[in-house]
Amino acid sequence: MASKRRNDREMHLPRGLERDLTRVSIWRCGTLLMLLAAAWYLLAACSPSATSPTRDSAASAQTTVAVPMTQMAPSKTPSLPPTVTPNPTPEPTVTPVPPTATPSVTPSPTPVPPLIAIDAGHGGRDLGAVIVNERGRIDVTESNINLALAIDLEGILLERGYRVFMVRKGDYELNEERRDVNEDGVVDYVDELQARVDAINEAGADLLLSIHQNSFVWPDGSSAPDVGGTLTFYCADRSFSDKSLRFAQLVQAEILAAFQELGHDIRDRGVLRDTEFRTAANPDAYLILLGPETKRIARPSQMPGILSEPLFLTHHEELALVKDETARRRLSVAYADAIDAYYASLDHANEPSDETSSE
Ligand SMILES: [Zn+2]
Repeated sequence: MASKRRNDREMHLPRGLERDLTRVSIWRCGTLLMLLAAAWYLLAACSPSATSPTRDSAASAQTTVAVPMTQMAPSKTPSLPPTVTPNPTPEPTVTPVPPTATPSVTPSPTPVPPLIAIDAGHGGRDLGAVIVNERGRIDVTESNINLALAIDLEGILLERGYRVFMVRKGDYELNEERRDVNEDGVVDYVDELQARVDAINEAGADLLLSIHQNSFVWPDGSSAPDVGGTLTFYCADRSFSDKSLRFAQLVQAEILAAFQELGHDIRDRGVLRDTEFRTAANPDAYLILLGPETKRIARPSQMPGILSEPLFLTHHEELALVKDETARRRLSVAYADAIDAYYASLDHANEPSDETSSE
């Protein structure tokens, strides 16, 4: 429809008017060309900043964009780089995390020496075995001999690098207030022994050595000066009984060797269970320091241990040894050697971890 109407208009134009129109159109064309040239010039002048935002697009556009661009606007090109750089997001997240976590340098702890509990049997009002001389005066008390040996042994063990817990360091008892320590309704010697076990457990001892001396009197009260020998008790009913037995055997052997070295052939009465003197009337007759939980033992000792009876005070020759300071010193060294041998045997068995086991 539109094309048909234009054809109609051309056909009906007069000649003069047609010439004017061509003149106007020529003029128009001249001005249009000038305007187009000006517009092209302006576009060319303005285009570089708008059409080349990045280096990549500028490089790819080089063929299409005319050469004059770079010649006409040379000052604009150096300002390109800043558009690329400003994107600072990814950097800070990675760096600060790892350098702080380095705690693996410290674990080189020097092994803590074993803590040896030394129990000097008896003390205070409890003298243990008592030897009376011909004039009826006290010659020797077991409690004093045990304490002298314990103090000697403490010094030797400290010199050898052990830690030592002394159940008593003087002539006293732990339960002097006469408390019912094991709460069995009776206050007796068991409460003193329970107080000692509690102290040893609280100290965290790794090994227990209780030092006593033996004595023997015939039932009719007559003396037995030829009954003597060395014996060592352990408890066979504990989770660590194998260690207690090993320690007992070492103590027994070291003591006999020490006396042998001094020229005394002491009778070997062996390593005995602490239920040796169990009777039908007293079926749980464990030694309080060594045994498991019973009606009398409220809180058992928690480490391997033994009770040593190296000599009979009622034996003439053995009494002389007990009173001799050099022989006592040698006996203390024998205990220390047994402790050394015990820990050496643990090292050889490659089982250093569970010294202190529970029931
Ligand atoms: Zn005793």
